[in-house]
Amino acid sequence: MRAEIITIGDELLIGQVVDTNSAWISQRLNECGIEVHQITSVHDDRNHIVQALNEAFTRADLIITTGGLGPTKDDITKHVLCEYFRMKLVESPQVKAHIEQLYASRPEVLNRLTATQWQVPQGATILPNRVGSAPLMVFPMRTKTLVSLPGVPYEMEIGITEQVIPYLRQRFPSLGVVEHRTIMVSGIPESSLAILLSDYEASLPKGLHLAYLPKDGTIRLRLSSYGEVPTQTLEEWIDQLQFIVHNYLIVTDDRPLELHVADALNAHKATLATAESCTGGKLASLLTRHSGSSSFFRGTVVAYSNDVKRDVLGIPEYDLQRFGAVSEPVVRWMAEGVRRITHSDYAIATSGIAGPTGGTKEKPVGTVWIGWATPNGTDAACFQLGKLRDQITDRACQKALIGLLERIR
Ligand code: ATP
Ligand code: MG
Repeated sequence: MRAEIITIGDELLIGQVVDTNSAWISQRLNECGIEVHQITSVHDDRNHIVQALNEAFTRADLIITTGGLGPTKDDITKHVLCEYFRMKLVESPQVKAHIEQLYASRPEVLNRLTATQWQVPQGATILPNRVGSAPLMVFPMRTKTLVSLPGVPYEMEIGITEQVIPYLRQRFPSLGVVEHRTIMVSGIPESSLAILLSDYEASLPKGLHLAYLPKDGTIRLRLSSYGEVPTQTLEEWIDQLQFIVHNYLIVTDDRPLELHVADALNAHKATLATAESCTGGKLASLLTRHSGSSSFFRGTVVAYSNDVKRDVLGIPEYDLQRFGAVSEPVVRWMAEGVRRITHSDYAIATSGIAGPTGGTKEKPVGTVWIGWATPNGTDAACFQLGKLRDQITDRACQKALIGLLERIR
């Protein structure tokens, strides 16, 4: 089955809101073996919406739209769809009861604008919207289907997961299951990796597909099975893949590195602190993004200036002057300093030149020293992580976490 997604909203086209809905929907459709052929964003404008629908129907069997279902004047999707399918709006007692119940537990009163939300196109299938007032509408035609969902990501996601996918699976029992398995490697350029894997890729059976996804200096390798490939075959091929890349293998699933770090530290009942210069707290932010991080994370010192490196972390002024802040001795001192003052088992320190200014011939922009202090000693490594500030600090965080995982293991 071939699908297209049309996201509707002026805010998407002026760059005020990034269209995350279509990426999310594509993933869900892909998991059912539905190929997403095109994604289009259009204005809250009748002609623009109609034109997009006409074009999409020439190519796709399933069209999913999001946005424009609110009760305000700028949201016109429902009216345009009524006109498009020659349906009239009628009151739905079920939707009305649902909205009244929804508002019973809300502080705001149900006004006449909200009341327009229980007007639905006569002949459309209305799926329940558990968390909002906009109806989830399905327009089933003889061979094609259009689904219209609200734009609010949270509402749209619940609608897709709880209503639309089960609806599609029931209506089209032959929908497949696409399985993905992902591993992460680091320390090898993408082109070298592709050469290393060329025989493997060439021998993949039909229905298995390998994708390279580079990010922040790491590469995710995703093996996907489409159609009739048994799970066991997928597992065998992923084992083989891990064997070929074992020198570069970091983790064998798709979870972010900080979660692997959390697991490794928790398994050893160990704690971690960070001392961050160039990453400015990014590392601590990553580590505390997930609930449960208090079990291992003790804290961070954002030691951006030399004064803080000296006065808080105890780095000798002499070393700061002699080696410079971006140097092996200084990141080692930083890691040891923060490990000592926070009473942690492990510590990571970063110091680098994130640019765009501040680079020298010896230490160009992108030079980052990372230090790791562990119960078994301290060491450090120097990396060249690119030219762009965000890229450099993001990559530094990933290198720091990979280095820590290797040292804990
Ligand atoms: P509501 O009934 O809540 O008004 P709606 O269907 O009218 O929902 P919109 O008003 O178009 O939805 O959008 C609501 C909010 O959802 C927007 O302010 C925007 O932040 C977000 N949103 C809309 N479309 C997208 C999208 N494609 N990707 C991400 N966020 C979106
Ligand atoms: Mg809108």
